[in-house]
Amino acid sequence: MRFVEKKFPFVFGDKGSGRLWPGRTFFQTFKSGFQGWAEVLLDLFLPDECPVCGGTLERGQNFCRECEAELPQIGDRRCAICSQPFPGMEPGDVCASCKETRFNFRRNVSCFSRNEVTFGLIHRLKYNGEGWLARPLGKALAKIVEREGLNEGCAGFVPVPLHPVRERERGYNQADLIAKELGKSFKLPVCRLLRRVIATPKQTVLTRAQRKKNLKNAFVVQNDKKVSGKRWILVDDVFTTGSTLDECARMLRLAGAEDVNAITVCHA
Ligand SMILES: [Zn+2]
Ligand SMILES: [Zn+2]
Repeated sequence: MRFVEKKFPFVFGDKGSGRLWPGRTFFQTFKSGFQGWAEVLLDLFLPDECPVCGGTLERGQNFCRECEAELPQIGDRRCAICSQPFPGMEPGDVCASCKETRFNFRRNVSCFSRNEVTFGLIHRLKYNGEGWLARPLGKALAKIVEREGLNEGCAGFVPVPLHPVRERERGYNQADLIAKELGKSFKLPVCRLLRRVIATPKQTVLTRAQRKKNLKNAFVVQNDKKVSGKRWILVDDVFTTGSTLDECARMLRLAGAEDVNAITVCHA
C-alpha cells in the first residue's frame, strides 16, 4: 500500500483539492473490498467520495451531480464497432477506421471519451496506486453494459492481463479491479482466461501496425476447455487503437469462444 498523494490540478481544479486528506486512498481501497451489508454499514461511517472533486456522495452515486454532468459520456452518436463518438453519426453507423479493420471482437463499448478529467482518473488508477477508483468507474461501466444488453448470455468478464512483472510493480491489474466490479454488479464470474507472456513496450507512440506486430502472441489462453463455446466480455481501462483487445479476442476465438465483446472505461 502506498500513501502517495500526487496532486493533479487538471483533475481537481480549484474545487475540492483542499478536501483531499492523507490516507484517503487507503480507506477507499479498504472499503472497496466489502460488499452487501458490510458495504452498507461502512457507507455510514465512510461515505463514498466523488472520484473527481472529493465531495461526499449519496448512496448509489458514482460521481457527484456536478461532476457527472461534466463527464464526456458516450451516447448514441458513436461508431457501432469501436464506440468512437462522432456528432453526426446515426445508430448503427461505422467509422472510417473500422470500415478498414476487422476486429476479432464483435464490438467495443466505452463509457467515456477522452478529456482531462477522464484521463486524469485513468492515470490515477494506473500510476498513482488509487485502485479504489476501479469501483466508481466499474459501476459507471456496468450501467453501459446493461443498457447495451452485453451481459445477456455471457459466461463472464475476462480482464486484459498485465505482464506479471508490471503487475507486481503496480500491485494490481486495473482491468482486473474493473472486471471485479462488473462481476459484482451482474453476479457473473471474473475469469482470468488469458496470461500475458510478452511484456510489450509502452504502446502510446506506436502506429496501429507496429502495435499489432508487438502484440502478436503476447497472450496465451490458460484454459481452452473453459473458453470454448461460450460468450465472453473482455475488460480493459482504455480503448486506443483496439490492438490489445483484438489480440486477446483472437486468442479466445482460437480457443473456441463463441462470441467476444469488449468494454472499456475510456475511448482515447
Ligand atoms: Zn464531484
Ligand atoms: Zn469505429
